[in-house]
Amino acid sequence: ANSCGIVGLPNVGKSTLFNAITQAGAESANYPFCTIEPNVGIVEVPDPRLNKLTEIVVPKKTVPTAFQFVDIAGLVRGASKGEGLGNQFLSHIREVDAIAHVVRCFEDENITHVEGKIDPINDITTINLELILADLESVDRRIDRLGRKVKSGDKEAKVEYDLLLKVKDALENEKPARSLDLTDDEQKMIHHFHMLTMKPVLYVANVSEDGIHEAEAGNNPYVEKVREFATAEGSAVVIISAKVESEIAEMDEEDKAMFLEELGLQESGLDRLIREAYTLLGLITYFTAGVQEVRAWTIRRGTKAPQAAAVIHNDFERGFIRAEVVAYNDLMEAGSMNQAKENGKFRLEGKEYVVIDGDIMHFRFNV
Ligand code: GDP
Repeated sequence: ANSCGIVGLPNVGKSTLFNAITQAGAESANYPFCTIEPNVGIVEVPDPRLNKLTEIVVPKKTVPTAFQFVDIAGLVRGASKGEGLGNQFLSHIREVDAIAHVVRCFEDENITHVEGKIDPINDITTINLELILADLESVDRRIDRLGRKVKSGDKEAKVEYDLLLKVKDALENEKPARSLDLTDDEQKMIHHFHMLTMKPVLYVANVSEDGIHEAEAGNNPYVEKVREFATAEGSAVVIISAKVESEIAEMDEEDKAMFLEELGLQESGLDRLIREAYTLLGLITYFTAGVQEVRAWTIRRGTKAPQAAAVIHNDFERGFIRAEVVAYNDLMEAGSMNQAKENGKFRLEGKEYVVIDGDIMHFRFNV
């Protein structure tokens, strides 16, 4: 399943955010494929289209698609050298697809800052440096091994060797591997490393309860620093107040909507974070819709129909014959499945069909 690891220095609000995530947590019975461990929080991906589909189809049950957050606590200065939980937490990062990096942008004299003062860029670079050092260690080891092959004239080894020297150079200049403009082939060549600094990053600026609008308007100098840093790197920033999120997480849908309206917010910070993480990973949603169940499924953009079907069940991919597809907008225009069919909006698609965000799919397969 797709997942996003939450990292950040101590006392920046990670646990507060993670508690909000687990509180808001999805009914795990619906998601047997997700890992259930204490440091994993499963959230439903908010999608207004799913509500519209439910209105049209009136199924017995509606199931949103899910996304996992992993709480990666214990990252401190020196982690790459084994300080704190050191290597253990680094291995947790290796397993996630993306990183949500929480940065403290709120002032509170009662809450100590581990580095002595609130300085978002210093915080970010402290964490990033640990990840860079960990990558540098594995790159060095590989370069060593390849070096011997290169000497004996191995041409293939030489290609990887040269690429790794380039990566090493970036890391030594304290630049993450993702900052290199690598070709698809180059990325594939070093994929087996699962480099930490190769993972896409989302910066989460944690602001005070009453500072959200101020920050959104560009008036929180800490947030502005984070924004500047993120922009230079090509990463996104999500402004949240972990405190507010932990309060929202305890409310039912109705109270939540009222509370957000009072705050003048369109959606919760957590919902925004989920959406941003989804986008960051290049994920899209398709639907299945029957009277038993209307359900959303997550795939990577560019996935073909049989592989999209595999998300539901491996047998669906193995025995794939074809898919009946109607685009979300066509269905909404028609107002009902039958009308959409009458309008000629149902298509039969084969193995090469690339699924589009919002497609409503019905798979035909052999068992
Ligand atoms: P972690 O070490 O990164 O997991 O940080 P915690 O989530 O435990 O937060 C550290 C402290 O900061 C706790 O006392 C939180 O209540 C507090 N805190 C977290 N977010 C906010 C916030 O938005 N505003 C304020 N005032 N305090 C916060």
